[in-house]
This record gives sequence, C-alpha cells and structure tokens, in this order.
Amino acid sequence: MPFFAQENRLNSILPLRCPHCHTGKFLVHPITKIFTITRVREHCDHCGAAFKIEPSFYYGSMYVAYALGVAIMVMVSVLYWLIAEEFSVKESFIWVFSSLLVSSPFLNGYAKIIWANFLISYDPNAGKN
Ligand SMILES: [Zn+2]
Repeated sequence: MPFFAQENRLNSILPLRCPHCHTGKFLVHPITKIFTITRVREHCDHCGAAFKIEPSFYYGSMYVAYALGVAIMVMVSVLYWLIAEEFSVKESFIWVFSSLLVSSPFLNGYAKIIWANFLISYDPNAGKN
C-alpha cells in the first residue's frame, strides 16, 4: 500500500520503482549493490514501459545529480557550522567531500529515477491487462 496518493511521483522515486506503473523495478540491481546501483533496466518487468527512450537518455540526470549534490553540500556545511566549536574551511571541505563520496552511488541512482519521472508519465492502468 503506497504511503502517498497513488499518482504521486514519490511512490516511484523513493522505492526506485517504474515511473509508468509505480510497481516494476527500475534498477537492474538492488540498492544494496552499491557499485552497480546506477544500472537502469531496459524495460519495466511489470508493465513493459521502456526506460531508455533514446540513446544517452540519462545524460540529463547529471543536472539532477548536480542539484542533489549541492543540496547535500549545503546541508553538511550548515550542520558542520552548527556543530563545530571553531569553523575550519579545511575540515568543512573534508566533511563535504566525504559525504559526497559516500552518497554518490545513491545520488546517481536517485538522479536517474527523478529524471525518468520528469519524462515518463504515470498510468494507473499500466500493467493491468
Ligand atoms: Zn512499469
């Protein structure tokens, strides 16, 4: 049972599900396989929707990944600024770099599902034939 309204795109983005039916898997491997998380399936295993609409379709997800990276950078910087007794640019950089390094596989996987949700619309009847 989805947490949000059925047509809400967060039902596709948060669990990494098909943007067309919100049921089929979007990635080839589960999120726990950290080094292969960014591999997207060719088609949905539930409704058959194509995930690769054209060659190099997911190059555009780099814009989304950039925005997510900036959001993480700002959050970590503000958190460091609030917690640290003395602000150090060098320590702040290390914290930001480390957090981006750790989160980059997840960031790229989520950037691709967000990008796909921009361009693939939801159909409540998809895969119910
Ligand atoms: Zn689907």
